[in-house]
Amino acid sequence: MGISTARDLLYHLPRRYDDASTVHPIGRLDVGMDATVIGRVRSKGVIPTRKGLRIFQAVLQDESGMITVAWPGQPWLDRKLREGDVLLVTGPVRFFHGRQLQPREHTVLARGGEEAKRTGTIFVTYPASEEAPQWVLRGIFERNLTALLEWADDDEFLDPGDLRDLGLPRLSDALRRLHRPDTVAEADMGRRRVAFDELFFLQLVQAQARRRQTELVPGITHRRTNELIRPLHESLPFKLTEAQARVLREIYADMGVERRMNRLLQGDVGSGKTVVALFAMLLAVEGGSQAALMAPTEILAEQHARKVRAMVEPLGLDVVLLTGSLGAAERRAALGALTSGGAKLVVGTHALIQEGVEFHRLGLVVVDEQHRFGVRQRMALADHGDVRPDILIMSATPIPRSLALTLYGDLDLSVLDELPPGRTPVRTALRPPSRRESVYRFVDEEVEKGRQAYIVYPLVAESEKIDLLAATEEYERLRTEVFPGRRLGLLHGQLATDEKDRVMRAFLAGEIDILVATTVIEVGIDVSNATVMVVEHAERFGLSQLHQLRGRVGRGAEESHCILIADAGADAYERLKVLRDTTDGFAVARADLAIRGQGDLFGAQQHGRDPVLRFADLTRDEDILSWAQGMARHLVESDPEIEHPEHARIRAHLYGRWAQRLEMFGVG
Ligand code: ADP
Ligand code: MG
Repeated sequence: MGISTARDLLYHLPRRYDDASTVHPIGRLDVGMDATVIGRVRSKGVIPTRKGLRIFQAVLQDESGMITVAWPGQPWLDRKLREGDVLLVTGPVRFFHGRQLQPREHTVLARGGEEAKRTGTIFVTYPASEEAPQWVLRGIFERNLTALLEWADDDEFLDPGDLRDLGLPRLSDALRRLHRPDTVAEADMGRRRVAFDELFFLQLVQAQARRRQTELVPGITHRRTNELIRPLHESLPFKLTEAQARVLREIYADMGVERRMNRLLQGDVGSGKTVVALFAMLLAVEGGSQAALMAPTEILAEQHARKVRAMVEPLGLDVVLLTGSLGAAERRAALGALTSGGAKLVVGTHALIQEGVEFHRLGLVVVDEQHRFGVRQRMALADHGDVRPDILIMSATPIPRSLALTLYGDLDLSVLDELPPGRTPVRTALRPPSRRESVYRFVDEEVEKGRQAYIVYPLVAESEKIDLLAATEEYERLRTEVFPGRRLGLLHGQLATDEKDRVMRAFLAGEIDILVATTVIEVGIDVSNATVMVVEHAERFGLSQLHQLRGRVGRGAEESHCILIADAGADAYERLKVLRDTTDGFAVARADLAIRGQGDLFGAQQHGRDPVLRFADLTRDEDILSWAQGMARHLVESDPEIEHPEHARIRAHLYGRWAQRLEMFGVG
């Protein structure tokens, strides 16, 4: 089970706790209940049925009565379970020749005539296996927990003052409570302590990374003159939102000191990130530096350049666009302007970080949609030349604060949690597949009015080929049978980059009425004339992903619609209601986290059964996560390499127990 040391064993924690007061007396079970019972096996056996199915049955007894428990199709259980075993069983009570319990889950709490031990009123259940069954593990902890806890005393790295401030128990106390709680609340208290440790060491490594990026090398102290910032304020046709003003204060403060900025700006689509970025860029220019904005695709770079150009033209500033498709002469001119310092503002793609791009004095790099860029690419631009520019990363994928602190603990976080006033929210509707025809009619009516639409099909990794085939066939059907008079385009990940580009540009230019797409359409692309987003098999998308798709419409003056087609019967239908009921991306992200669980959100960083976070629960532990970050950063400030003798235990943990886990997380 991956347990090779005493310490591993100590951290092999129960996976569930059952409170005896919530365990149902067998005598009082009713048909229709979902029950948890504890009883001793009085008799057992395999019963054949006429259909050839073999059913293992056991009769369980407690002080209040007896009940039959039936495991259809699992005759082998007859060899696993013995008479006299004490079982914990959960499942629904059905009527079948009398009351019968149908187990979803069962575990052997005790064997050999022993009582099922519990502390207080709590029964614990460990992750068990064939070789290390429940009752064996329980026995091991029964006999050895006290001795094991001495390890925990040696491991304690928080002093009593910290523990008091944090309201957390000592490590040994926490582990005792986790293995032998008197109440479920006590076990959770213990869990919070080990969760704190887990988050603290993760934050510690991130704090060290942050220090390497921001403090080891001197940054730039940008001096603000308001020469450009004030005129921009005056020329904008709107006032900044409170959130924009707050975030700008955070950014100005970062840029105004020598420590290098490394900040993540999160905000929903349309929350006004570009404007914020532009103010930051102007601050850099006021102080005598150049500023660059890097986008993941050419189309996005061009779009940004257009927007920024429109805003800075009144200030007498120009914007240089640098992408891979510039002609040789244009490219030479652009590069020359960057090297001489004549160009103050540059917008571009990866072309910005290529060989031969020399800046006169690059003071700020804004990276749009960072999840499309690897950390290494970010760093390549950041380490350009001998000046160390400030870095601002913009993301239009709202994620809950706790997840952001965990994934991006090395960055500082700014959040635009408010949309500019006067937006017409996108209307979201759920439709069963049987209503597809009327959805098509609606799309056609919108196109008739001169609008454009997206129809998106899912592409799931395991069955990509089949999905792609289905989507391509659907495209043919839509083109020839459903919308014969309309201009349709098809966009999917298998297309060559310039073909994708061509389709996207045609849609942008209004030469395509309906864009059928399988991949997530260009993040951040702005087609203000598109007013309908139809998503097929919406149940196969994550909520946050759907929210992203929805963000592709609602960018113009017209009311926009997002129509999610999903099977009415599916559980997913309930889940999708979240989208119908809110347009706030952060609310959607929180719901997504709560529904899917954090494991799913870590995605690729999850290694098999060993999750990134074993103890911390990001939906509940935001408070301890903030403390952990605060303490970790504080520690790194006072002792960057964690080498003072008084931090020996922390150091031992960092390079011992936690090293492997952290490495797996990609931060070790
Ligand atoms: P994001 O990059 O976050 O998607 P943008 O910066 O592109 O958002 O802003 C979306 C639109 O809202 C743009 O047309 C922008 O000019 C406008 N906008 C930005 N801030 C405000 C504001 N405070 N009030 C009104 N409109 C705003
Ligand atoms: Mg700075």
